[in-house]
Amino acid sequence: QKPTVVITGASSGLGLNAANSLAQSGDWHVIMACRDFAKAEKAAQKLGMPKGSYTVMHLDLASLESVRQFVQNFKNSGRRLDALVANAAVYLPTAKEPTFTADGFELSVGTNHLGHFLLVNLLLDDLKQAPANNPAGKPRCIIVGSITGNTNTLAGNADLGDLRGLSTGLDGRNSSMINGGEFDGAKAYKDSKVCNMLTMRQLHQRYHESTGITFASLYPGCIAETGLFRNHIGLFRTLFPPFQKFITKGYVSEAEAGRRLAQASNMEKAKKLWSMSCKLVNLE
Ligand code: NDP
Repeated sequence: QKPTVVITGASSGLGLNAANSLAQSGDWHVIMACRDFAKAEKAAQKLGMPKGSYTVMHLDLASLESVRQFVQNFKNSGRRLDALVANAAVYLPTAKEPTFTADGFELSVGTNHLGHFLLVNLLLDDLKQAPANNPAGKPRCIIVGSITGNTNTLAGNADLGDLRGLSTGLDGRNSSMINGGEFDGAKAYKDSKVCNMLTMRQLHQRYHESTGITFASLYPGCIAETGLFRNHIGLFRTLFPPFQKFITKGYVSEAEAGRRLAQASNMEKAKKLWSMSCKLVNLE
């Protein structure tokens, strides 16, 4: 049996393109874990993903029941699991009011963090049992992170505070924000991404040594002045940072990026977040 990778949110964007590239390599069987089966199937066909190289399976991260059902379906498929890519996300920067998952959690954190949190936990055993012969070397679990504290976007920085909103269920009765504050859609997305990164750090600390699984978070964005562009043409290197600063407004300096990474390394908060999340998705 070929090594298997599960990619959530593989019906568009980064997830779809990652699924396509892995499927085209011929080395992997790709499980496209998507909430819209028809959209995913159509997208796969449009990109010419070879028949038999992928399977679309239903997963709605905004429902814990759906996550559990997906895991059951996956286990029933008899496939090995070599890699899990937690890629799906919702981003609601213009929402004035919070919306909620089937279980009553604010939608961004409920989907991007809690849905993936349960999924990863339920699939750990399968990852652990992956045979050693996969192209990635070792079983791995990757979560797609993002910018966490851009001050020049619509809303404020990510800030989990003391997690008081999470502790009361994130259901809007007290607060729909993790820090207990007023609802802010852009911030909720950023908060969910910080949760993703803290969760990976906890997973690494809890399970890397005993299972050999590699846990990592990945930010696909762009720090315009890093060494990454050192081989690019001079004009690009000159123009790209001001372009990011003034046109896209997505500019992040190396220093700022370093600070954000350091902020995402708060192990105490990561631990607290872990135990509250366990409670909310009934893992305790
Ligand atoms: P897309 O919107 O193209 O992809 C998001 C995917 O998530 C879609 O397939 C969507 O499904 C899926 N999804 C949303 N809600 C659910 C749900 N409840 N259950 C299952 N799947 C769901 O965005 P990107 O490809 O840009 O984003 C992919 C990742 O990259 C995200 O984690 C994002 O935070 C991250 N990222 C992106 C950046 C960028 O510049 N684009 C920068 C930094 C990080 P559907 O097709 O049904 O809507």
